[in-house]
Amino acid sequence: MADYDLAIIGTGSGNSLVTPDFDGKRVAIIESGAFGGTCLNVGCIPTKMFVYAAEVAATVSHAGVFGIDARLEGVRWRDLRDRVFGRIDPISAGGQAYRVESENTTVFAGHAVFTGPRSLRVSTGEQFSAEQIVIATGGRPMVPEVVTQSGVAFETSDTIMRLDELPKRLVILGGGYISAEFAHVFSALGVEVSVVARGTRLLRHLDSEISDRFTQVAATRWDLHLGVETDKLSGDQRGVRLDFTDGSCAEADVLLVATGRVPNTDRLGLAAAGIQTLSDGRVKVDCHGRTNVEGVWALGDVSSDFQLKHVANHEARVIAHNLAHPRDLREFDHRYVPSAVFTAPQIASVGWTEDQVRAAGLNYVTATQAYGDTAYGWAMEDHTGICKLIADPGTGLLLGAHLMGYQASNLIQPLIQAMSFGQRVPELARGQYWIHPALMEVVENALLKLGLNEP
Ligand code: FAD
Repeated sequence: MADYDLAIIGTGSGNSLVTPDFDGKRVAIIESGAFGGTCLNVGCIPTKMFVYAAEVAATVSHAGVFGIDARLEGVRWRDLRDRVFGRIDPISAGGQAYRVESENTTVFAGHAVFTGPRSLRVSTGEQFSAEQIVIATGGRPMVPEVVTQSGVAFETSDTIMRLDELPKRLVILGGGYISAEFAHVFSALGVEVSVVARGTRLLRHLDSEISDRFTQVAATRWDLHLGVETDKLSGDQRGVRLDFTDGSCAEADVLLVATGRVPNTDRLGLAAAGIQTLSDGRVKVDCHGRTNVEGVWALGDVSSDFQLKHVANHEARVIAHNLAHPRDLREFDHRYVPSAVFTAPQIASVGWTEDQVRAAGLNYVTATQAYGDTAYGWAMEDHTGICKLIADPGTGLLLGAHLMGYQASNLIQPLIQAMSFGQRVPELARGQYWIHPALMEVVENALLKLGLNEP
């Protein structure tokens, strides 16, 4: 008999696998870092708490447009930081204490490695077996060799939010969503921000129209170095300098490396268990979350195509069911996975990009509605926000939705809902009231502009 019924490696979404189905059973939980994982400690939640504060600061800075005289007199960085982590750290500690005290769970505060198909060793010395094991080890920031070999001091998303002082100048290496969110936070708080990326556009994973427009807006706020390779980093206690292959350079007090993330599989001893991985290092799973080794499952960033908390949570719900119901396995639903970038302007998207539908040879129509051409947009003096929709004229169904602007992550929800439940554009646009003059009229107008409405 195995020592445990279930062993969970990683307490991000893995922590939610301990459902009432495991009451009276023996569950081992192994965590090498902060309890609660990336989202709670160094990811979604603290970043969005900083983003909100940044938006308060930006609102003050832009108040003059509305005839309101206000000035951002200062930012108490330590107070801001301590408000965020004063909320988060106790939640992490409380979550751990709850599991330590629970009758059916045993917490191991260490790093787990496989020693066989269903056996583990923890860095704290314990070794045990389990009937079923779930790998929920997430990922970590990837730091390029050019940075590590330079010996220059740098921050990652794991550390930057805990700085003691707000820098005067920040240079961010990377052009993805983590870079865009931190660039927004720090620039709104008064820091001079430079962004360095190999690509010629920021947020290249998005619909290219959104990515282009965002890059244009970003260029008005941040010092952009796009289409460049960093070939030399130098620095001392006073700051850092990055030299690029095109002869230009960027200097700052602090360097943030945001060049992507790698799955936490390389230090897991997967070979000892015979667990297969994909070419990028993620654990290979089927639609039920099973690895190739019986009784071993994986979820979230360590295995998923999507590096998103709501996907990790969904996968955890499916696996929690499957662990307890081996004869009634559920499948992951990855059909309409939305995502948002909490930068400025905020961005949200779901479904296909126009490049993807074009490349797939699909018949499609698009419509774009500017925030600034609606009544609420006038109130906001919005000049950059858009809602772009892509639909199939044959079926009347939405194929993709891409919003850039205030509260895009909320405005997109009816479109996600329509796609998820197969609701057609004509019903969605005209089968309900839309509150006037709410900002949601941006979405209503974009739907009407698709020209798929029945009389
Ligand atoms: P994690 O939460 O990373 O949990 C893995 C856990 O496993 C960690 O606690 C780790 O310490 C532990 N671990 C690893 N290896 C071992 C081992 N060998 N032994 C024991 N323990 C181990 N997603 C969104 O949807 N929205 C957002 O706004 C968003 N913002 C983000 C902002 C930032 C800066 C970052 C970095 C990420 C953000 N994400 C966001 C992504 C989101 O945080 C992840 O998709 C999600 O947290 C993944 O959850 P997980 O359970 O797969 O892994």
